Amino acid sequence: MTERVSGIAASDGIAVAKAYLLIEPDLSFKKETISDTNAEKERFTTAIEKAIGELQAIRAKAAESLGEEAQVFDAHIMVLSDPEMIGTIENAIENDKKNAETALQEATDMFIGMFESMEDNPYMQERAADIRDVRKRVLSHLLGVKLPDPASIDEEVIIVAKDLTPSDTAQLNKQYVKAFVTDIGGRTSHSAIMARSLEIPAIVGTNSITEKVAEGDLLIVDGMEGTVLIHPEETDISAYEKKAQAFASQKEEWQRLINEKTVTKDGVHVELAANIGTPKDLEGALGNGAEAIGLYRTEFLYMDSAELPTEEEQYNAYKEVLEGMEGKPVVVRTMDIGGDKELPYLELPEEMNPFLGYRAIRVSLDKDEIFRTQLRALLRASVHGPLRIMFPMIATLQEFREAKAVFEEEKEKLTGEGVKVADDIQVGIMIEIPAAAVLADQFAKEVDFFSIGTNDLIQYTMAADRMNERVSYLYQPYNPSILRLIKFVIDSAHKEGKWAGMCGEMAGDQTAVPILLGMGLDEFSMSATSILKTRSLLSELTTDDMKELAEKAVTECQTAEEVVGLVERSLNKTT
Ligand code: PEP
Ligand code: MG
Repeated sequence: MTERVSGIAASDGIAVAKAYLLIEPDLSFKKETISDTNAEKERFTTAIEKAIGELQAIRAKAAESLGEEAQVFDAHIMVLSDPEMIGTIENAIENDKKNAETALQEATDMFIGMFESMEDNPYMQERAADIRDVRKRVLSHLLGVKLPDPASIDEEVIIVAKDLTPSDTAQLNKQYVKAFVTDIGGRTSHSAIMARSLEIPAIVGTNSITEKVAEGDLLIVDGMEGTVLIHPEETDISAYEKKAQAFASQKEEWQRLINEKTVTKDGVHVELAANIGTPKDLEGALGNGAEAIGLYRTEFLYMDSAELPTEEEQYNAYKEVLEGMEGKPVVVRTMDIGGDKELPYLELPEEMNPFLGYRAIRVSLDKDEIFRTQLRALLRASVHGPLRIMFPMIATLQEFREAKAVFEEEKEKLTGEGVKVADDIQVGIMIEIPAAAVLADQFAKEVDFFSIGTNDLIQYTMAADRMNERVSYLYQPYNPSILRLIKFVIDSAHKEGKWAGMCGEMAGDQTAVPILLGMGLDEFSMSATSILKTRSLLSELTTDDMKELAEKAVTECQTAEEVVGLVERSLNKTT
């Protein structure tokens, strides 16, 4: 029987494939005393051999797709062949009559503890992590439990998981992973945002998908509606195939607008920009007709590496993006680590409320050296194209002034060293904390531009965690309270002759776009895949009508639903 599960539609598209469960398995075991030590040692040796065989196979496959990064598996094989470690475990079985699981756990705990105590030695820290990984693999063989292994996927699948971290998502191979569905998460969690740039259909926040789906079950994922069909009938499959074809031809239709400028029906130009996470995303941005990069999330540079990226590495990445955009503006956001984006090697403390904690500009101003390195790399790259820099999570004017002062100091140092730096770099801020939105008139006197980060601005204004599906009903971009804040920010920028953009997901939301146009938003920055449909929508709108619509939305509407109704009526009149 077909079962339907609903969740939050996170990334458009339709996929039909078998489920691949990416779930941490239960590796718990009992501590036991054994009598037949030889049989236990043999059980242990077989588990080791199986683990090595598995690692060799993964390594061979990873070498094709990952290149040098595949070496991590060599390190794992070495751990399993280490006579000191194996000897310690076998002795514990032989002499202390411990079962293999207990002997393995205790010996590996000892080695991990030893390596981790060498705090200043990143090499030893990595060895400790290797042992942890390898232990999991051997335990899975001892217990007969299957470990999920996304790197070994070699057929089309739909990933089913409790949650996916941004780094899990970055590792998904688009060739085989046709969609993903998770129990938790919201539309603006970073794995959802990444799914949109990878153009993989995704549904998050289903609550229960991992309980309902078994490995290999056939699924249909409808990323537009947010529905998953488990064990679909033939008729469902053909209905969804039709829908997929309609979606593909709609995309083809939009594709015709790729080289067009974005203009409204009455000829007003607005800028449609793309959000990117790495230079690799440039292809998608340009392939979808981006007129600028409105948000380059540089934290992925830090997350993709085992240690802090050097000034040179950063310079090369920024240069690649600026050159790739061939003279079109690029807004680079300084590192926004924290929240759902972790950086293991920075060892940030565990926090009760990571989204309200030590993140973004707060880390940059505190860890001054990291910030200066990033700014130097940016300043050096500024000669390769029109660069705009913005600081994330600014709450107070003091924070902006402090950050700007560091920028000026580094600029002066570099010019003093004879390094060429552009003299027209704009420096702005993200407006994503209500305190900054409310004080936008003051900020506007000092910054060059605003970029409104609605993903965070909405969660902080509504006090509703953007990652928590249980409060996702409060993620209300059209709530008049949010609209009033946005309007005030845009008006404040314009009063001081500055521009205002938006790089939160709301900028590509088809219900919000007409209102934002009416409010005079200058730049809309979004997931690349939303650009062409937004260009198409804008070409049907008239600015005067939308001004009237926006005015009504903020002055007359009381609820988000009323705003949606107002926009729908207005669009029906227009189109
Ligand atoms: C935002 O908060 O709207 C934003 C664009 O930043 P991020 O999603 O990376 O927090
Ligand atoms: Mg943000």
